Amino acid sequence: MGTVYNASMPELPEVQSIRQSLEKHLIGRVITRVVCRRRDVVHGPACPKDLLSGQRVIAMHRHGKQLALLSEQRALVVQLGMSGSLRLVVDPSSAPLKHDHVIWHLDDAARLHFHDPRRFGGLSPMADHACLTQRWKKLGPDALACKVSHLQVKLARTGRSIKACLLDQQIVAGLGNIYVDELLYNCHIHPQTPGSQLSRQELARMIRAMRRILKSAIEAGGSTIRDYVNGVNQPGKYQQGHQVYGRGGHPCRNCGQQLGQSLIGGRATVFCPQCQPLVEKAT
Ligand SMILES: [Zn+2]
Repeated sequence: MGTVYNASMPELPEVQSIRQSLEKHLIGRVITRVVCRRRDVVHGPACPKDLLSGQRVIAMHRHGKQLALLSEQRALVVQLGMSGSLRLVVDPSSAPLKHDHVIWHLDDAARLHFHDPRRFGGLSPMADHACLTQRWKKLGPDALACKVSHLQVKLARTGRSIKACLLDQQIVAGLGNIYVDELLYNCHIHPQTPGSQLSRQELARMIRAMRRILKSAIEAGGSTIRDYVNGVNQPGKYQQGHQVYGRGGHPCRNCGQQLGQSLIGGRATVFCPQCQPLVEKAT
């Protein structure tokens, strides 16, 4: 039997928790040296300067599920993919782990390790801040800043299910399988509902719920399904509040009906057939 990966990739709340846990340690520090132990995790040029060697970290930004470290001149995008993590290491005697692919040495003797066993994540060097802005413009707006009018335009002509639309980072950036399932349950919308069938009122409600759910998840430090921890090794607690994700076959907490599970938008999807009925609308 092959390895079963039940890890879910970090989504907006987990990536934001990583950012918050690292920001206070990294901003203002000078990167004295970078050790790249696996060249293929860097997408693009991988000279020391591309990986911010010799530069001061002035900011750490996030858009959707992507993070970026910024120096005065450059930026480095960090994508965590399925299994990536960033870890601050303060003990100088602690050796790198297997799959610690890139290590940044800081001027206060701490180190930052990029770890990614499955290597779906990676680092993308940006020659300047404008390149970062350009890159992020190609994605949809960050889920915390998404507007009703934007969703309405993007969904108007689609034939895809709302589940597939919300997973699409070019429509809205930051949501993955966990938070889309939680959001659609919260809004009583069947995940297979065509995106174009949702009214402006339904979309407005969905956006309010999206912000509420993401903010509570950030406050809880994200969701730890298998091994997610933030940059200083703390797990999240939001999984305790999951209503549907990971609960297929269990009773709905609202109506008691058994939660359904099926493949929608290419992903295992959990929903309540009673609370989230599939409404057929005349077109
Ligand atoms: Zn229910």
